[in-house]
Amino acid sequence: MSFTEELKRRRTFAIISHPDAGKTTLTEKLLLFGGAIQTAGAVKSNKIKKTATSDFMEIEKQRGISVATSVMTFDYGGKKINILDTPGHKDFAEDTYRTLTAVDSVILVIDCVKGVEEQTQRLMEVCRMRDTPVIVFVNKMDREGKDPFDLLDELEQTLNIKVRPITWPVNMGSSFKGVYHMLEHQMNFFKINKTKLEGDVKKILLDSPELDKSVGDKDAAQLREDVEMIDAIYEEFDENRYKTGEVAPVFFGSAVNSFGIKELLDTFCDISPEPIARTTDVREVLPTEAKFSGFVFKIHANIDPRHRDRIAFLRICSGTFERGKFYKHVRLGKDMRFSNPYMFMADSKNVVDEGYPGDVVGLYDTGNFKIGDTLTEGEKLNYIGIPSFSPELFREVINTDPLKSKQLEKGVSQLAEEGVAQLFTMQPGNRKIIGTVGELQFEVIQHRLLNEYGASCRFESKPYSKACWITAADPEKLNDFIRLKSNYIAYDKDENPVFLAETDWILRMNKENNPDVIFHTSSDFK
Ligand code: GDP
Repeated sequence: MSFTEELKRRRTFAIISHPDAGKTTLTEKLLLFGGAIQTAGAVKSNKIKKTATSDFMEIEKQRGISVATSVMTFDYGGKKINILDTPGHKDFAEDTYRTLTAVDSVILVIDCVKGVEEQTQRLMEVCRMRDTPVIVFVNKMDREGKDPFDLLDELEQTLNIKVRPITWPVNMGSSFKGVYHMLEHQMNFFKINKTKLEGDVKKILLDSPELDKSVGDKDAAQLREDVEMIDAIYEEFDENRYKTGEVAPVFFGSAVNSFGIKELLDTFCDISPEPIARTTDVREVLPTEAKFSGFVFKIHANIDPRHRDRIAFLRICSGTFERGKFYKHVRLGKDMRFSNPYMFMADSKNVVDEGYPGDVVGLYDTGNFKIGDTLTEGEKLNYIGIPSFSPELFREVINTDPLKSKQLEKGVSQLAEEGVAQLFTMQPGNRKIIGTVGELQFEVIQHRLLNEYGASCRFESKPYSKACWITAADPEKLNDFIRLKSNYIAYDKDENPVFLAETDWILRMNKENNPDVIFHTSSDFK
């Protein structure tokens, strides 16, 4: 296959949802329909159930699973599909945001009973920042959920995107009969059960009397009425407006019962974007360019503490990645080559000789990579990712074993490079402040410092609630502010100054009193 053919058949996306909406179940069903796994139950849910009390075994298990399921690749209908896994737990939301920088589109799963939930909204905001194309899958139609028309309104109002149903449910709850395909004008009846897909499909057109026989007169009449209404209310589906992130096609179904999945997967293959152009600090890079480039969006430490090496996950953005060839690590200005790059199948990983735009390769790393690092064939450019946002919890790391301060220092900075949490340094004394969005991250850090670096620490709460990156047109003014507020100034991992505010009120007062200083809510200010 030529480079262009390889490129054109790649589909790289993530499935995102508020926890429990059905992301894991849907992922598994897609793999099942794609022939990547034979029976359901093969994909382990990568979520941590406990939140309040520590359960380190659970955390370790989760890390093990999340290596195995970081990328799930399968061939379907001539397409090569790469599903990038995202953690379900909200304390690891930043991980998900970063993964979203490496995809070309997303499928957003909504629970039809609960509708749009808190995490759904946050994830969608991140997608909107990059105009990522979104397909919505409304799941659990086998339950008595909200009225589908009301759900569509809720999606439009809360997610700031237009919607267009592509499939439509025939009844719901215990009377749910399946979905009608609005573009194909027919309803598909499969011989399916929960764990296996069997081949036979019976297709019935909307006007056919067979429909009344299959779903009953009442449901058939209701469906015809609904379809007429949808065509009257919603504009015709426009693939281009989906690709620019303006319209989200909506599918209904029940993942656990395999209803509506094939329709979703087939249409996804037809309409979802192939690898798209990406922005760097210098220029836009097209996937069709002959020279290889890519960036690291995730770093995974080895779970075995005797092997300190890590796996850096690199998204290929242009050209062909070749095993054993020298590439430039732009930030370090260093040439590197990788003799054992990995690619991931549903539940195994294999050494690969080459990869194309849209693919993700796992590179063994002995500490050279940070999240966001770019590799090229020599050109100096850096891919622009998702910025850091202000953490919500701030704690100082206190060393409890003075003999291990080197290990602690190294451990903390490596975990920050992996993106486990944000690290800020304060003077005097090079104090290390860790910022997170959830308690669980502190538990993970403490546990991993001890297990992997032999360093023990405790955390001391800090009263800050917000970090703002600060700049000023006049460097003198910035220095004045930093001197004046030295007790509230820290530096992020790239040495950018950050103002730590205890309350929103204090932040507002500081903004008012220092009009020359600009306060940024994210690290994306360059
Ligand atoms: P995740 O947290 O988004 O990955 O959600 P899971 O896939 O783990 O699903 C959460 C729960 O919802 C599990 O108990 C699933 O069995 C259940 N579930 C998933 N899909 C459906 C569905 O279509 N109908 C019903 N009734 N339950 C479902």
